[in-house]
Amino acid sequence: MGTLSGRTALVTGGSRGIGRGIAERLAREGALVAVHYGTNREAAEQTVKGIGAEGGRAFAVGAELGLPGDAEALWTAFDAALARHGGGSGLDILVNNAGINAHGRIHEVTEADYDRVFAVNVKAPFFLIRQGLDRLRDGGRIINISSGATRIAFPSITAYAMTKGALDTLTRTLAHDLGPRGITVNSVSPGIVATDINPWLADPAAHAQAAGYAALGRVGEPADIADVVGFLASDDARWVTGQDLEASGGSALG
Ligand code: NDP
Repeated sequence: MGTLSGRTALVTGGSRGIGRGIAERLAREGALVAVHYGTNREAAEQTVKGIGAEGGRAFAVGAELGLPGDAEALWTAFDAALARHGGGSGLDILVNNAGINAHGRIHEVTEADYDRVFAVNVKAPFFLIRQGLDRLRDGGRIINISSGATRIAFPSITAYAMTKGALDTLTRTLAHDLGPRGITVNSVSPGIVATDINPWLADPAAHAQAAGYAALGRVGEPADIADVVGFLASDDARWVTGQDLEASGGSALG
């Protein structure tokens, strides 16, 4: 029996990249996992299929984030799909992973880019949590996927880094607020991970440079992040809340 047997999890952006790795890891531990996607239903179905092939339980839930009413749409879809898959109601683990980048130094970022990245990376998780609090059971877990860019200055992604700073503040503040319910709230900050969000890693020179940032000398994989999320979701992390755990292979340490 897995450490998360009998628990239900929702992983936003579980269709691809880091979110897929997290969905796989939580399912391997026995959780029933809602694999959320924005537009790429096929990718979400592939994640679900892969989990099923390993003996896990998962289902796909679609809702585009960053639009008015997004949180409500996601929860409505989640409630219906969970009931269809015999999961009853409510959940134990919410992973706010879905996110987008906004490239550009400050003078290159348009107002529309700024509004969009804050809508998807900050406003959506905020209201997803707000509207999910009645569903989240006492003793549950909220895990927000932040970024190493909150500690390491990358001027080429200023607005994006700001969204993750806001998420870290949400993590700490909510941990304080939800402690009495036994709910822990933590964030995980990846370094550079090989996913679709970083198409520039296809260039071997850029890849080698990215690997060089990490003390451990390579680019991260989704499983490197998913295993940390698996720990924070487990009972082993019961005394950890309001923290940000950087999983970056020791990027830019000195
Ligand atoms: P990917 O681009 O590989 O995957 C993004 C995921 O988020 C997809 O599942 C996508 O759904 C979903 N998503 C994106 N935009 C929306 C939207 N508007 N509405 C609903 N769903 C959406 O990204 P990563 O896996 O790399 O990133 C995951 C998280 O990790 C992000 O929060 C990112 O900021 C963070 N991160 C990533 C790092 C990296 O180097 N990769 C480093 C630090 C942090 P769909 O498949 O439907 O498009």
